[in-house]
Order: sequence, then structure tokens, then C-alpha cells
Amino acid sequence: MTERTADIGVVGLGTMGSNLALNIAQKGFTVAVHNRTIAKSFALRDDNPGIGDNVVPADSLEDFVASLKTPRLVLFMVPAGKIVDDEMATIAPLLSAGDVMIDAGNADFNDTIRRSKAVEETGLQFVGMGVSGGELGARHGPSIMVGGAEATYGLLSPILTRIAAQYEGEPCVAWLGPDGAGHFVKTIHNGIEYADMQMIAEIYGIMRDGIGLEPKAMAAIFEDWNTRGLSSYLIEITAVTLAETDPETGKPMVDVIVDEAGQKGTGRWAVIEAQKLGVGATTIEAAVSARGVSSRRSERADAGALYAGIATQAGGFAGDAAGLAELEEALETAKIIAYAQGYATMAAASQEFSWNLPLAEIARIWRAGCIIRSRFLDDIARAYDSGETVVNLLQATDFVARVSAGQGALRRIVARAMLAGIPVPALSAALAYLDDYRRPRGTTNLTQAQRDLFGAHTFHRLDKDGVFHHQWPAV
Ligand code: NDP
Repeated sequence: MTERTADIGVVGLGTMGSNLALNIAQKGFTVAVHNRTIAKSFALRDDNPGIGDNVVPADSLEDFVASLKTPRLVLFMVPAGKIVDDEMATIAPLLSAGDVMIDAGNADFNDTIRRSKAVEETGLQFVGMGVSGGELGARHGPSIMVGGAEATYGLLSPILTRIAAQYEGEPCVAWLGPDGAGHFVKTIHNGIEYADMQMIAEIYGIMRDGIGLEPKAMAAIFEDWNTRGLSSYLIEITAVTLAETDPETGKPMVDVIVDEAGQKGTGRWAVIEAQKLGVGATTIEAAVSARGVSSRRSERADAGALYAGIATQAGGFAGDAAGLAELEEALETAKIIAYAQGYATMAAASQEFSWNLPLAEIARIWRAGCIIRSRFLDDIARAYDSGETVVNLLQATDFVARVSAGQGALRRIVARAMLAGIPVPALSAALAYLDDYRRPRGTTNLTQAQRDLFGAHTFHRLDKDGVFHHQWPAV
């Protein structure tokens, strides 16, 4: 029987689990590891000289559990869904009251709430934890969003604060609230990531199809943008990917990659939850839908033939290199709107589930380690920390000024793209949301009239209190 020496155990040694385990080991903690394919556990120890000394592989689940200090901390890094339930059910009988099971994969927060209840009824503790930053983040410092009991977080924080990304000396990890709070915030993080990436791809589309720029020229532009307001990991990697050459053909790498985007579901979860909460997360929705449309590649080719008469007017932006500043301003403005939608979704969830989500802190732990890391998140944190009541980021003083200044550029870019036949679903969704959101007198008075006519759904009047039904003419 292995001695109880390990500070934490990791179950699942795929891309994320193995890198997270090495990160933990490198920070001086002893980490027990278990994997369905057992050989991977031993390989993790043997293939990583030095760090591997802190890795304790186990032949069996019993040995794995026996190697853990109590209360035992067991972190699962396996694909979301039934596999998490199955793995937890296998290990739970080997654990004792007070031990902690941590789901660190990308979970639907509704599952996390269900698991929290079920696990806590057995006397064990449960933590739902979002980890962002991909493979490199897991290895060298991810952004970590924790949900569960605050006291349980206390058991994990000595390890998590060491393995998390550090931003100006502050660890990018925080306890965000009970049960599903951490996984909900991770889901919205990914939703925002979808919107951010889609808007960058739309700007690329304008550069390629509207202005006729080559990828290398675009790379230089994105590199330049990365020195100012848009400075972020996503803009940085946009420049890197556009500059890359395919070693086989000598063509730009992006020109040989098929235009079908994959997705694993977190963007879709973000949209579904925003809809349930009655929040318009239209930029995220546009991004998720665009990935869906992209995956119907042969169908798009057929449609292209059917609509061959509608020419994409490549000249729509021709000779417009001078308009690059306008493109930059449009992207920056749309980005503010997309993040405002993500934050509005978190604010609504915080109220709905009584989580009291620390919105400024969330911006702070996203500043390093995660995919949407950027200096812009400092501005969001500042808005929430400023003392003013922030109903929606689009009402925060700084953002009102920036969106007011940038909306003209966004409007002109969206309008010209649409006239040229270049799709900009997320950029146009951002603009439409802004125009809808800033309009005191909307048009749903007509919707209410229609609903009252066909379904006696009643309506409110502007000139007096109460609920009314009108006798509409028979139709
Ligand atoms: P991988 O596919 O790389 O690894 C999956 C791991 O789960 C492997 O260890 C695998 O074992 C194990 N596993 C798979 N199926 C089963 C099963 N039926 N029973 C037991 N074990 C099983 O996944 P990732 O590391 O990429 O992802 C893990 C989690 O992290 C997911 O929830 C993912 O969404 C999330 N995540 C991933 C990110 C990424 O960039 N990849 C970023 C952030 C979160 P075996 O070795 O035997 O196949």
C-alpha cells in the first residue's frame, strides 16, 4: 500500500490533466495520478525527469486513493457529461467524509449544481472549477474559476494560487460562489471567446474579400493593433497565424486550412443560459451560429452556385487601406458590446441564483492565463470597482464615452460590409444590440398589440397604471 504522501490526485491524464499535474508537481506539491490507460500515469512520472519525482502513479484506484493525504483532494479532468458521473461514482465509495471531488473539466453548470447536491448528501465535498488557457495554460499557469463551498476552496487555495497564472503578482484564481458559479463563469468566458474570435474573423473577411489584402499584410496590421487598445492574446495569435507559411505548399497557412470551425458546446451553453435568463447575448449567438453554418461546407458551395447572381462586391472596400483605422475602431467598439453582453449574462445569473458573483474580480482573474486575456479586462475591472452602479457595462461612464466615439466607425464598417455582400453577423449583432439597447421607445408596443389581438395577452398603457385588454376588430 502506497504511503499517504500526495497533496492532491488527478484523474484523467489527457491534454489538460497531464499538463495540470505537471504544473502542480513543478510547484513542489506531490500529485497522485490515475488514468484509464494506466501506462500514461507511469509515463508522466518517467518522461519528466526532475518534476516526475513529485508524481505518484498508481496501478489501481485503491492505490491512488491510498496515496492521498486526508482530506483527500481528487481532481477530475475527463470529458464532460456521463464520463464525469461514471468516474466520480467509481471513486466515491473509496473516499471518506470530508474528502473533496473537483470537476475541473468544462461542465454544464446545471450538471455541477446537480452533482454538488448529490455529492454533499453523501458527506463528501464537491467543487466545480473552470480552467482556461488550453494546454499551455494548464502547464504554466491557467486562469481558474472556482465554485463550491468557500471553506472547501480554503482546502484547495494553497495549491491553486501557486499553479494559476500570475498577473502583476496576483494569482488568476478566485472563489466565485457556491455550486455552479465557477462553471457558469467559465461557460460565459468561452461564450465571450467565441464572440471575440468571430468578430476578428469577420474583420479578416473584410480585409481579404473587401480590401484584397494578403495574409502577411494582415498579420502586420494585427501586430500593430496589438500595441494599442485591442492588445490581447487573441489579436496576438491572429497576427502569428496569418504570418505563418505552409511548409508543404509555400502558401499562407490560413489559405490551406478548411473553413469549417469545430465546437465542443460551451459557446452553445452560454447562449442557452443567456436566453433562459432573458439577456440578449446576440454576439455570442452570432458566433455559435456562424460556426454551425461554417460546418455545412458542401451545402454552402451549393448555395453559392444558386445565388451566383449576387456578386460579393470585392470592390466594396477597394483602395481603402486608409480605412484600416476605422476597422480597428469598429472592432474595438464591437468588442466592448460583446463583453457587455457576457457580463450582463453573468449579472443576471448572479441575481437568479443568489451567487453574488464578484464581477470585477472575474475581470481580474481573466487578465492572464486564459484565452481572452487582454489589457481591456483592466478597464472592465475598473468600471465595476469605480463605485458607480453598473447595471450594464454599456452604462458605465468610460464605456459610454468609448462606444459613443466608436459607434460611427462600427456603423460604417457594418453598412459597407453588408452592401458589399460580406457577412458580418457578430459585428452587425453588436451594432443592432447597441441601437436597440439605447432606444427609450422601442417597437414591442406593436408586438403587445398583436399578442393582445390574437391571444388576449393584455398590455400596459403609457398614460395609466393597470393591465388592459382592447376589443380589437375581428380579423
Ligand atoms: P483529452 O481528450 O485530451 O483527455 C481525456 C482524458 O479523459 C484522458 O485521460 C482519457 O483517458 C480520459 N477518458 C476519456 N474517456 C474516458 C472514459 N470513458 N472513462 C475514463 N476516462 C476517460 O481531453 P482534454 O484534456 O482536452 O479535456 C479534459 C476536460 O478539460 C474536458 O472537460 C475539456 O472540455 C476541458 N478543457 C479542455 C481544454 C483544452 O484546451 N483541451 C481547455 C479547457 C478545458 P485515456 O488516456 O485512457 O484515453
